[in-house]
Amino acid sequence: MGRVINFSAGPAVLPEDVLRQAAAEMLDWHGSGQSVMEMSHRGKEFISIAEAAEGDLRELLAIPANYKVLFLQGGATLQFEMIPINLLRGKPGASYLHTGEWAKKAIKAAKTFGQVNIVASAEDAGFTYAPAQSTWKLDPETAYLHYTANETIGGVEFQWVPETGKVPLVCDMSSNILSRPVDVAKYGLIYAGAQKNIGPAGLTIVIVRDDLIGQGQPTPPAMLDYKTHADADSMYNTPATYGIYIAGLVFQWLKKQGGLAAMEKKNIEKAQLLYDFLDQSKFFKNPVRKQDRSRMNVPFTLKDAALDEEFLKGAKARNMVQLKGHRSVGGMRASIYNAMSIEGVRALVDYMREFEKSHG
Ligand SMILES: *Cc1c(COP(=O)(O)O)cnc(C)c1O
Repeated sequence: MGRVINFSAGPAVLPEDVLRQAAAEMLDWHGSGQSVMEMSHRGKEFISIAEAAEGDLRELLAIPANYKVLFLQGGATLQFEMIPINLLRGKPGASYLHTGEWAKKAIKAAKTFGQVNIVASAEDAGFTYAPAQSTWKLDPETAYLHYTANETIGGVEFQWVPETGKVPLVCDMSSNILSRPVDVAKYGLIYAGAQKNIGPAGLTIVIVRDDLIGQGQPTPPAMLDYKTHADADSMYNTPATYGIYIAGLVFQWLKKQGGLAAMEKKNIEKAQLLYDFLDQSKFFKNPVRKQDRSRMNVPFTLKDAALDEEFLKGAKARNMVQLKGHRSVGGMRASIYNAMSIEGVRALVDYMREFEKSHG
């Protein structure tokens, strides 16, 4: 069987070139006589893989020298806890933008450790927009401001970066990291689970400014302390070695595509194709405010939810899978990460047009 057109929100599609290279290197990585999975994480072969991965990520995102890159585990969900544990720094509370399902989980976790100030919430409109900075105010004494750059479930993406002055800006970029260039210097900490737009599940990337490391009060347990992992170059314990290797291949692939500016162009083109179709359709609808629409995750509904199953069945027959929306919102969702080709999006739009004609 050939490969499907995979619109999964995560774990998600990976570049075919990367999968082929991993397959070719599976039994014998670069003449080492072993699979990357079988290597000691402290051996020179794996160290070279990890160093190249970090170097390429630094190059892609132009990460300044005063930021550490950490390869951790536990998903973005563990970061929901590690962030307050490390960054509250004895201050009573932190600030959060509430923009949907993932922000909600980050907020819930933070409440265990300190006061959470919801600076702005988009709940009034069913989380269909990103609250403009002019509508909220930040307490300059707050420990940090946390926001979710792309709400994977709601399909809301910030097309701008909050200005927080001296307050460290903390960002969950799980589902849009590497989809566009980012000015890392504006952030105190960026984190992302790998399984959306980077590589396999099991790897979490944290990019954190030096001065925010080792500030946890009280001192966190070792495994939850950024300092532990920064001091040990992410090898305090065995890291997600195979995940780091695949992420490294994805970084090389991104460089070959022309880097993040080139990826952004392609991502705009793909998203535009889908949104343009949705906007002229009388049958399909996307609920998100235009200027806040996600380039990565595009939720949409059919005129009649009773047709959902038939729509999914027809998609499957055309080799298109994982279009069912998140259980919390229903409808459909097309995730169109870096590794989704424009042809894949075109195939979806063609099918939607056909479906509308026969059912609209
Ligand atoms: C998927 C996702 C998470 C959760 O990631 P896990 O790796 O399952 O912990 C958090 N935030 C966002 C924006 C996500 O898309």
